[in-house]
Amino acid sequence: MTDALKTFLTDLDLDIRAQGDWGQVADYIPELGRIDPAQFGIAVALPGGGMVSAGQARQRFSIQSVSKVFSLACVLGRIGEQIWTRVGREPSGQRFDSILALEHENGRPRNPFINAGALVTTDELLTGRAPKETLAETLGFLRAAAEDDDIHIDKAVARSEAATGHRNAALAHYLKSCDNLRNPPEITLGTYVHQCAIEMTCEQLARAGRVIAQLPGAPRMLTPLKARRISALMMMCGHYDGSGDFAFRVGLPAKSGVGGGILLIAPGQASIAIWSPGLDGYGNSRMGSHAAERLAHHMGWSVFG
Ligand code: GLU
Repeated sequence: MTDALKTFLTDLDLDIRAQGDWGQVADYIPELGRIDPAQFGIAVALPGGGMVSAGQARQRFSIQSVSKVFSLACVLGRIGEQIWTRVGREPSGQRFDSILALEHENGRPRNPFINAGALVTTDELLTGRAPKETLAETLGFLRAAAEDDDIHIDKAVARSEAATGHRNAALAHYLKSCDNLRNPPEITLGTYVHQCAIEMTCEQLARAGRVIAQLPGAPRMLTPLKARRISALMMMCGHYDGSGDFAFRVGLPAKSGVGGGILLIAPGQASIAIWSPGLDGYGNSRMGSHAAERLAHHMGWSVFG
């Protein structure tokens, strides 16, 4: 199977580059705005430790909101179900940085993957810990899951987002005014932008995702129930207001980030990471989504049978 998959991924990489319909990079974070959109990488981690990849699968990129999956895993490990008193688990139907629903719902964000919800999970992780220790916990989780210590934070990206992140600052202050932020907004925001600025390659991210896919041979860091629940949230909320369309087209739980990364979970079968930094109108990787659709169809991977 790995030889056939390698051939498929190599052809897919060539096709994507020939199409060249890359989308726009996330220039609201100036440091990400400088990235060439014409890039693509894909990596598939298989049961038993196999890894098949193509394109720029060893190039580091900013995982941005994909980090929210792993900070949620850390929070669930720490306080379990209690987190749901502070954040919901419903699709938002709004932009990733929208403030609209937050006002309607009295400061309880719709889910942990929109920015407001991730600010709450990061704030929860900060309980009783300094920002450095909190970031070390999320990084530590990723390194252990990927079995690779060479995963770091790109401080220039964090600084760039901190300097221009007025919407996230508005969300944090709104949460504070509703009594749903324990730390000073600056502390939670500072930790959040550093968490989003973690850099990984597709191969590292696919390896980290094995703990959610519960692949045989992966480190056992999540109970099957937690992995199922994280996957359910990825399916419903992982692509913001494009989540329904992504589920329809691809049929796998997945989380995107504005750095152009997508982590996809085929439970028990594969953990897949795709990167292409040009985004569509929802803030999801344009060519990454296209590649995800092609791969899922080709392999017959879908949680819908
Ligand atoms: N750090 C980004 C922000 O807060 C994450 C958004 C994303 O990746 O979707 O705007």
